Amino acid sequence: MAGLQAMAQAGSGVRVAVVGAGVVGLTTATLIQEALPGASVTVIADKFGQETTSDGAAGIFRPGLQFRGDDEKLTRKWLADSYAYYKKLLEVKGTAETGVKKLSGYHFSNDYPNIVWNALLKPLLEEYRPCTEEELRAHGFKYGTFSATLLTECRSYLPYLTRMFTERGGKLLRHHLDSLEELVGHFDIVCNCSGFGAKELCSDITVTPIRGQIFKVKAPWIKNFYYVDYDMYILPGLEAVTLGGTRNFDSYNAKVDKHDSTAIWERCVQAVPSIKDAEVLREWVGWRPYRPFVRVEKENMSFPSGKTLKVVHNYGHGGYGVMTAPGTSMHAVKLMLEMLPRQSKL
Ligand SMILES: Cc1cc2nc3c(=O)[nH]c(=O)nc-3n(C[C@H](O)[C@H](O)[C@H](O)COP(=O)(O)OP(=O)(O)OC[C@H]3O[C@@H](n4cnc5c(N)ncnc54)[C@H](O)[C@@H]3O)c2cc1C
Repeated sequence: MAGLQAMAQAGSGVRVAVVGAGVVGLTTATLIQEALPGASVTVIADKFGQETTSDGAAGIFRPGLQFRGDDEKLTRKWLADSYAYYKKLLEVKGTAETGVKKLSGYHFSNDYPNIVWNALLKPLLEEYRPCTEEELRAHGFKYGTFSATLLTECRSYLPYLTRMFTERGGKLLRHHLDSLEELVGHFDIVCNCSGFGAKELCSDITVTPIRGQIFKVKAPWIKNFYYVDYDMYILPGLEAVTLGGTRNFDSYNAKVDKHDSTAIWERCVQAVPSIKDAEVLREWVGWRPYRPFVRVEKENMSFPSGKTLKVVHNYGHGGYGVMTAPGTSMHAVKLMLEMLPRQSKL
């Protein structure tokens, strides 16, 4: 608690806490600093950097059709804002500084002609076309699309966000919160970006893990991404290629499963045979923090003690939190500004 007190007292202006140091929390924290330059912003989390779920994500910009906010218009706005944010970041600062890169590749299927098209993605991309007969023959599939999108490598992007945040005076505090009530009195407003942690912190039973197991391999000759239906993917990042994967709904197994490893490896080698020569760097399991609707919402929380706290929630991004963090975080910051009294924004 002393840590919280010290953090909250340092600096002047409105005292803001962001709970969570994954991609959603750090994105929100930097956007708050831009919207409220006089604010004292503290990121509080029990896991940072490589300890977070965000670290293991491949980071491709390719939303599943089940990704959604409260309505379709809002969902599409989050996606468009996010894509524009990463595109601009890449143009202005480049891949080496941020970890954002261009990536193109294929989505194939032998069974479902429609599965290779993504209605949420199509309006955003400059290049999204059916595969040519030659491409389908070369890869041995009946249906396919080719598209050019972006990938954000969190091994580079989280350090980039952290640098930006701390250079602007932001503070980091490692602390496990048993309840958001611990923040009452120390902060004027809180943005809750706790990912799967929101299940406990908000008693939100709709937050569910979707277990994902992957390999990270060294295979620098892989230049394109590949999806086969949604069961197999090969996604080249900056240092490693991600081979996946599993999507186990409501599974709390955090360990690498050898049967999953065999299945992932065999599917990837079958689709792209040169993967057999890849060097395995690590295997990893993460829980996608799924919620039927991503929660970006204001709440005046009141606790049994009678204490109250202004909170904006920003969690439940499932398998799409890297790509959509900018859009939902812009929305969360807008809601925070609406909750603050006028004079505290000056
Ligand atoms: C195998 C796999 C592949 C993926 N691939 C992609 C992809 O290609 N593209 C994409 O966009 N997304 C992908 N994702 C999804 C992505 O990883 C998540 O949506 C994203 O990381 C969620 O970010 P977050 O900041 O909400 O959560 P996290 O990164 O989990 O961060 C949560 C933060 O909250 C903190 N916290 C939680 N509870 C508490 C508490 N009680 N007290 C203090 N701190 C707390 C934690 O310490 C942590 O800092 C993938 C996920 C997996 C598992």
